[in-house]
Amino acid sequence: MVVVAILGAAGRVGKRLVHRILEDETFSLAAAVGRADASTAFEDAGRTAGAGFAGIPIGVLEDECFFGAEVVIDFSQPDALIAALPFLNGAALVTGTTGLTAEQDAALDAYAKTAPVVAAANFSAGVTVLADLVARAAKALPDADIEVVESHHRHKVDAPSGTALFLAQSAAAARGVQLADVADHGRHGRTGERVSGRIGMHALRMGDVVGEHEVWLASDGDRLRLGHVATSRDTFAVGALRAAVWARGRAPGRYTMQDVLGLHA
Ligand code: NAD
Repeated sequence: MVVVAILGAAGRVGKRLVHRILEDETFSLAAAVGRADASTAFEDAGRTAGAGFAGIPIGVLEDECFFGAEVVIDFSQPDALIAALPFLNGAALVTGTTGLTAEQDAALDAYAKTAPVVAAANFSAGVTVLADLVARAAKALPDADIEVVESHHRHKVDAPSGTALFLAQSAAAARGVQLADVADHGRHGRTGERVSGRIGMHALRMGDVVGEHEVWLASDGDRLRLGHVATSRDTFAVGALRAAVWARGRAPGRYTMQDVLGLHA
């Protein structure tokens, strides 16, 4: 049995995590944490998730809030994740929160010196495999124009998505360049002709789209389109729980979903 706690338990992904944990005997829910000013504060985590009574109230970030957890799974906001680090007490961390600054990412690196940290912009196994395919295609087609297009629901607050950046980084790394040096975010006005080697990034925000990513590699005479559609947030919850099982008891360090899937082996 893997004992887990959830940070962001009342959130869209957090609720799916609570749901799956409560119906899977592999896991036990030790604690659930959310915002103190949320309407769900101190409500039962199971009922909030629509999964029936769990006997675990959604607490706030404070000493011992993750007490007993072997793995803390975080899908919240960057400031919440950073504020939670002092309370983890050596637990493994599986974090899906996106939009971290370089400084916030360095704080994760520091925690990874003391415990295993699996951080992924997308915990879907399908997206992880997609990134692998994108890297192979970008390398095999060095002259292809690469464009990354992502779609998400209207509530998403950061753009481009962490997943789009991850896919673009996979392509850039395969070509031996830094994404920051080649990325074109959206296009507007007199942009001039497309410059070879650039990677275009485009974000659509609409309706209730869970998450869709397409990577185009276009050459003279053909276009290759690689893509992934998340049909429900369960894909993130399932992947994060797979990562939690993998991370428990592992050596301190920073790991990715590729490590969890064995794609780096
Ligand atoms: P959400 O807004 O529905 O949920 C976020 C939760 O975090 C809420 O319950 C909120 O109360 C809680 N929270 C926010 N600030 C807090 C604080 N200071 N202290 C305690 N709790 C706090 O968001 P979501 O759609 O569930 O996504 C959460 C994060 O995960 C986002 O960064 C999103 O981009 C990311 N995400 C990652 C993946 C992935 O696979 N890596 C998939 C989907 C979403």
